[in-house]
Amino acid sequence: MLLEDPKPGAPAVRRPIVVQKYGGSSVADVEKLGRVAERVVHARRAGNDVVVVVSAMGKTTDGLLKLAHDAVGAGGAGGEGREPARRELDMLVSTGERVAMSLLSIAIQARGVRAISFTGSQSGIITNDRHFDARIIEVRPHRIEDELARGAVVIVAGYQGMSYKREITTLGRGGSDTTAVALAAALGADRCEIYSDVDGVYSADPRTVPEARHLPELDHALLQEMAESGAKVVCAQAVEWARRAGIAIYARSSFEPVSDTPRQTVIRRFAPGDEPRARAIVGHRQLAHAALGELASLERAERLLLDAGAAILEEHVTEERAEWLLSLMSAPGFAEARARMAAELPSLAVTVGLGLVSVVGGGLTERGAQLVAFREALAAAAARPRRMLATALRLGAVVDAASVPDAERALHARFVAL
Ligand code: ADP
Ligand code: ASP
Ligand code: MG
Repeated sequence: MLLEDPKPGAPAVRRPIVVQKYGGSSVADVEKLGRVAERVVHARRAGNDVVVVVSAMGKTTDGLLKLAHDAVGAGGAGGEGREPARRELDMLVSTGERVAMSLLSIAIQARGVRAISFTGSQSGIITNDRHFDARIIEVRPHRIEDELARGAVVIVAGYQGMSYKREITTLGRGGSDTTAVALAAALGADRCEIYSDVDGVYSADPRTVPEARHLPELDHALLQEMAESGAKVVCAQAVEWARRAGIAIYARSSFEPVSDTPRQTVIRRFAPGDEPRARAIVGHRQLAHAALGELASLERAERLLLDAGAAILEEHVTEERAEWLLSLMSAPGFAEARARMAAELPSLAVTVGLGLVSVVGGGLTERGAQLVAFREALAAAAARPRRMLATALRLGAVVDAASVPDAERALHARFVAL
């Protein structure tokens, strides 16, 4: 953006554009929202054009989803076991971010700075028509650019967009990260800062593995592998956008005081000096497995699984059978859908209650000893692997969901904390 009043004859100066994203924990109550407002005002007063993407406050999205499920069976409607329509879920959960964006705008205005809030559709986030985990297909941020030119801070509701059919859609759980990176790409932003309750990416989830190490630098490829294996710190689609558009992400904590040298993880195209080795452990506790013993219904089975909201992590097809590993992170009605699938396609066997533990890094299949160490660590944690997979970038085991945390700790001790 151009500064409002360049001196006559002086070359026009472009203000740096900064996109900041604040997750649910950073805006859990109005007190925290006020602290976020301070941080935003600081960035604006430092001479930046500031776009802020905000998530719903605290656990609002979970609360709204619970309401939807309660409404299905309410008043003796006989609807127990039915799934709420995904279109209506989008109408419902998109309100969470709308509350947060307007409150943040009010808090910023109260500090004497111009601010305006926009929903996803007002921000020009255009998606496909898959409700509850839509993909962004285009970003047309004209209104945001106009407001930045007027000197306003723009607050955008994360996690939502509008389909080309003009329906409200949401981007899958954790999707505010995707809004932030896609906007940073469309605006040609100088930086994209993602604030949460951790000061960056660690070698494992610090809630599960207290010895997890802070990783100051990471490349896009490694974080994408972590996110796709189920690490929730930055959502997988956001990392994919960042990688394609070459956007650097600065992952920071909103709970630390504002500083010019914050502790953070910088995620960019190449992280210098990375030799191939195990870098992080990832646990995923919302996994399902599906198997089809004949191939005549292959497409029908895929359609049923996707319509139930499952995201396909892996698909294996042999001459006789097909198998899927499914993430249920954005599949709120999957339990109900299972009964329907069993009735419609009895040859499709679905197992739920599973988890996945992964060692992520590089060169993981170069030495057979690493595969031996992987199996030994799982055995030491009493985690029975139902399936294992090994690529240069990831060693993974499907286990019962309940054994994931112990397996994460054992694998961290064996592979990362050497
Ligand atoms: P927000 O609500 O700000 O989007 P999230 O809960 O989505 O925050 O992401 C932050 C959380 O991610 C942390 O509280 C942490 O428990 C979890 N997490 C999982 N894996 C990692 C990891 N490898 N490094 C850091 N945090 C992780
Ligand atoms: N509020 C949404 C969720 O809880 C999106 C987000 O937090 O990024 O999944
Ligand atoms: Mg998140």
